Amino acid sequence: MLHLLCLIMFLMHLTKNYKDDYEYGNTMALLITDECINCDVCEPVCPNQAIYQGESIFEIDPARCTECVGHFDKPQCVEVCPVDCIPLDPQHSETQEQLLEKYKKLLEE
Ligand code: SF4
Ligand code: SF4
Repeated sequence: MLHLLCLIMFLMHLTKNYKDDYEYGNTMALLITDECINCDVCEPVCPNQAIYQGESIFEIDPARCTECVGHFDKPQCVEVCPVDCIPLDPQHSETQEQLLEKYKKLLEE
C-alpha cells in the first residue's frame, strides 16, 4: 500500500509543471534552470528585455522581470519555453504591487 502511495505521489510530481505555480497566485521573479537548451524562443517574447544570453544558458535579470505583470496575464517566457525550465525564483519573492511598481519604473526608461 505504501509503495502504491509513493508511486502515485511520484507520478503527480512528474506531471506537475512550472505553469501550475501561477495558478496559485505566487508572485516572484523567474529564473532559467540549466535544463535550458538555448533555443532563444523566450528572449524575443519578453516585454521587459529581462532575458539575455548568459555564459552558457539564457538568464533572467530579476530587476527587469515583472512576471509580465502590466503586459500579459501570464509569464510569456514560461508559455513558450519548450522544455519547461523557467520556475519561480524563491530568492526574488515580490508582491503583485511591487511587480506593478517595477513595471511602471521600466516604462519610464
Ligand atoms: S516573466 Fe515576463 S518579464 Fe519575466 S522574464 Fe519572462 S517574459 Fe520577461
Ligand atoms: S525558451 Fe526555454 S529552453 Fe529556450 S532559451 Fe528560453 S529558457 Fe532556454
